[in-house]
Amino acid sequence: MNAATPLPLTAAPRRWKPAPLITGTAALHVGAAAAMLAQPATWPWATGGVIASHLVLTAAGLWPKSALLGPNWRRLPLTQTSQTLQNSIALTIDDGPDPEVTPRVLDLLDAHGARATFFCIGERAQRHAHIVEQMAARGHAVENHSQRHRHTFSLSAPGALRREIEAGQRTLGEITGTRPLFFRAPAGLRNPFLEPVLCDLGLHLASWTRRGFDTRERDAGKVAQRLLHGLAPRDILLVHDGHAARGAHGEPVLLTVLPALLRAAAQAQLRWVTLREALEESLPQQSHEQHEQHEQHGPHESPPLPAQKAIDAAPFDKI
Ligand SMILES: [Zn+2]
Repeated sequence: MNAATPLPLTAAPRRWKPAPLITGTAALHVGAAAAMLAQPATWPWATGGVIASHLVLTAAGLWPKSALLGPNWRRLPLTQTSQTLQNSIALTIDDGPDPEVTPRVLDLLDAHGARATFFCIGERAQRHAHIVEQMAARGHAVENHSQRHRHTFSLSAPGALRREIEAGQRTLGEITGTRPLFFRAPAGLRNPFLEPVLCDLGLHLASWTRRGFDTRERDAGKVAQRLLHGLAPRDILLVHDGHAARGAHGEPVLLTVLPALLRAAAQAQLRWVTLREALEESLPQQSHEQHEQHEQHGPHESPPLPAQKAIDAAPFDKI
């Protein structure tokens, strides 16, 4: 614990630049209001346009891998100068800590020399603080998955979003002594108010490249197939130590899948990195201007490297 010297809740704030969808929606609202004032008979069209724009915004928030509402880490960054990330992948583990599953996950990761990013739920972290301390002590990254993991998170107003995320920052920062740099929304669902809040708190939104659906899939083979088929450098994988589905014999699915996953990565000579390691590796070699671009557009829109190493002949940049 680091209660004696509380950390500031925020990293350096990021500058918020509204995504084109947001500015377009705002312009449409202004245009609709102007049209109704000038020509009241146009109200059905103006109202219909506004409703349609809200449906588009809602759909973008229901699509976890969408970047329409703002930057979103769907893969590890691609930069012109940093070669180290070309053979790296990231394992992200959500919804813990779990007193039964997480300690065994930590042992498996140790046995394979792998480091992971744990997106922890604040309330669970408070109940099992010693496990979160172990994550940090053993070289893993602990990031923010909200304080309470409410499934109504994406319906929240800006103030409620901020309180929930700040509570997670406070909880996890006090336990590990390190402030989270990434946020993943519960179930990956969000709304247009999230990105300005994350910018203000200096947090990056992270989703994933591929996931195993291991909270409801009881067949470990199918989970492994989803994670491994087409596995490629810079992929971000999502599994769960909390809310883990159980196999036929009651074993948490993740514990069956994880050894196969770690072996496959080793055979493919892929290096496990945490998201914050990838962030650090991608930033120092960038100019200030490139950094600004990175912040505004997200790493997935960086220019491509001339040569890429694909595993299993997967379409490399197909997300
Ligand atoms: Zn979750």
